Amino acid sequence: MPSEFEIIRKYFERPARNAVLGVGDDAALLRPQAGMEVALSTDLLLEGKHFSAGADPRKLGHKALAVNLSDMAAMGATPRWATLALSIPSADEVWIGAFAAGLFALADRFGVELVGGDTTRGARTICICIVGEAPAGEALRRAGARPGDDVWVSGELGAAALALARPDIAEVQGRLHEPEPRVALGERLRGRATAAIDVSDGFAQDLGHILERSGCGALVHYDLLPKCGAFARVALPDLERKCVLAGGDDYELVFTAPQGARAALAALAGEIGLALSCVGSIRTGEPALSVLDAEGREIMVERGYDHFSA
Ligand code: ADP
Ligand code: MG
Repeated sequence: MPSEFEIIRKYFERPARNAVLGVGDDAALLRPQAGMEVALSTDLLLEGKHFSAGADPRKLGHKALAVNLSDMAAMGATPRWATLALSIPSADEVWIGAFAAGLFALADRFGVELVGGDTTRGARTICICIVGEAPAGEALRRAGARPGDDVWVSGELGAAALALARPDIAEVQGRLHEPEPRVALGERLRGRATAAIDVSDGFAQDLGHILERSGCGALVHYDLLPKCGAFARVALPDLERKCVLAGGDDYELVFTAPQGARAALAALAGEIGLALSCVGSIRTGEPALSVLDAEGREIMVERGYDHFSA
């Protein structure tokens, strides 16, 4: 069995690139670019709660970093550095090697550098802290939506929840296990979006966070919501509504923007090759979300995921 230090050196230590000092000392040293603010976020993944025992370690390495990159995307920040606190039951080198490969493949695609962490024996737990940058004053916040703004959604909703409900539908499994963080979109929304969030707990709940922070309501048309194409084939309307409105783990961005930004956002969708759908609008009043069906009837919206509710 390799020691803790051998594991770190073999699997997680790489030469520093942008960092002043990376893995190997008591702390990393980072130098943000002039005029930038630092964005910092952390996410914890527990076996049995966020991933199942026996989950593919390569995909787990991808997803653990992807959910953190998604938080940077939702802030309009450019991800730059990360730390990894890893608890594993044994020094299983096959598992560690595959996990590291999945994590570094995604890190390299986004120019993110692993600059430190902690490694211990215990229940399988992955905690990544991500550090990014955005020009001072330009990061996208949840507060900032204004009455009259449009509500937009990237990509498609519901695929990850469908994958969880129906492991037999092979084509959607990747959307649950290897989500694609919308980093390029987040960066390009700086100066355009008034508020943004990523869909981790479900569209209705996550848009609800924007409404609470911004102190306004929203009206959304169910028919305009972009839905994973597989729903058309399974033809289970109740499951579709549940997955699209309350399904978590899609990691698409929900954002608000003034109506005057419509043409620019349509052009942006073409430039970055990602669908952007205008699905409703922000209204004055209580921070409540109304979702209407094609006949204009209100759809009862289930809450999304909450770790502390039964
Ligand atoms: P300390 O005793 O200060 O906690 P460690 O011996 O735990 O330091 O870690 C040694 C070095 O390796 C540190 O720079 C730490 O940031 C880094 N490190 C430990 N585990 C990981 C990991 N899983 N991924 C990346 N870096 C790690
Ligand atoms: Mg340590």
